[in-house]
Amino acid sequence: MDKAALAPLLKRIPQVQEVLKCECISSLEESLPHSLLSDCVRSEITALRTSILAGENPEFNIESVAQGARSRTLAFMAPSLRRIINATGVVIHTNMGRSVMCPQAIEAVEDVIKGYSTCEYDTNKMQRGSRHNHYERLICAITGAEAAIAVNNNAAAVVLVLSEFAAGHEAIVSRGELIELGGSFRIPDIMDQSGATMVEVGTTNKTHPHDYERAITENTSMMLKIHKSNYQVIGFTKNVSLTELRDISNAHEKETGHKVLVFEDQGSGSFVDLERYGARKEPTVAQSLAEGADLVSFSGDKMLGGPQCGIVVGRKELIDRLKKNPLARVVRLDKMTLAALEGTLRCYLQGEEAINSIPTVRMLSEDAGTVRVRADKLKAMIEERIEPGKADIEVIPEISRAGGGSLPMYDIDTFAVAIKPVAGSTQECDKFLVQQCPVPIVARIAHDAVIVDPRTLLDEEEMEAVAEGLKNYFATV
Ligand SMILES: *Cc1c(COP(=O)(O)O)cnc(C)c1O
Repeated sequence: MDKAALAPLLKRIPQVQEVLKCECISSLEESLPHSLLSDCVRSEITALRTSILAGENPEFNIESVAQGARSRTLAFMAPSLRRIINATGVVIHTNMGRSVMCPQAIEAVEDVIKGYSTCEYDTNKMQRGSRHNHYERLICAITGAEAAIAVNNNAAAVVLVLSEFAAGHEAIVSRGELIELGGSFRIPDIMDQSGATMVEVGTTNKTHPHDYERAITENTSMMLKIHKSNYQVIGFTKNVSLTELRDISNAHEKETGHKVLVFEDQGSGSFVDLERYGARKEPTVAQSLAEGADLVSFSGDKMLGGPQCGIVVGRKELIDRLKKNPLARVVRLDKMTLAALEGTLRCYLQGEEAINSIPTVRMLSEDAGTVRVRADKLKAMIEERIEPGKADIEVIPEISRAGGGSLPMYDIDTFAVAIKPVAGSTQECDKFLVQQCPVPIVARIAHDAVIVDPRTLLDEEEMEAVAEGLKNYFATV
């Protein structure tokens, strides 16, 4: 269509001022700023003009434009960060906020955000207190560490440690551990940023104790070990253990009087031996300390199941230096995180039942048989709600994963419900669950079916919501 033919249509586009007078927009004036309403009206008009110019010949009148602008306004004001239902079976899902808080953490957060708090106030001394007091005693009691500091996340913890101890010095790291953790967090770049000189030793698959021994100079401040939480090197491999690094450091100190720190970035960071609960073996923080690490850093929201934070534990004189580093102020925790962290940590000292009330811990350690009982139940709930013949529904053996970006190599046997649409389509059903349900439900697609893994459904209510979502989808096809 040529431009001239479009002119009558373009001429019919209403003015911003006119649209603002329509009842469906003007009724919003009371509760929302005028500038937001005009912006939304303008965007709607721009979209309409673009559509006309593209020759799409849209049907419109002033009322439809106003309704469009109203939808834009309501969408703008709708909460963006909100709850969703994770039916993927990926327990520590970085895109979905990683760990779900346990009841004690939720209670603690509620308590401190409703009023003023002891964030930095000491009621015994009736004067300024320290943020570190809320968590440090608990972390030390759980891990046996002398001291601890918690910051924004583990990436910040690693940067803090390197900045304090390795800036202007050399830090030795194995070529097998020079990793990228996603979100452009690469060990070589972080070293650079922290002002440390990275000294690479060994090869991608093999690093030996003598590689470290030979690389130590009088300017070496630390040997950095990075736990392989998000990748594996398999086959012909050799790693140097923490115990071996400790021995190398001790021997060097005995010979020269010069201390070389052993620092482990443990990444996933686990407090209890989850193997006892049925999960795969991962080193605990206490084990790394016992094996001779001077400092260990780890995330609060991975296997620990707490809020987003990064924790460094180790000898008191070293942690004291970290607390005094100006960067510690830059990456300090806010009161909500402190409360959630303290609440989660308390569970670890209160025995099995409390530990199992931490959703991440429970989900990582639940055996496949237990998940199967819930899968069977969910299958029955779905079948009750869908007309027979519209979908094939089966309980199938599947694999859950500990984490998306954080622990992708960690598979867990599970049983999932597979919904294979006979009417409608797998893709549309999957999309409907995310976009048309009151609480979005994220499942995944495999074997041409929508797969719902009950391992990551939190309770009966979430199972109910999944069944209702599927009912509503199959009612449309
Ligand atoms: C996840 C991870 C990090 C980053 O931790 P965040 O808490 O996400 O900042 C650092 N190192 C390792 C080994 C990790 O697995």
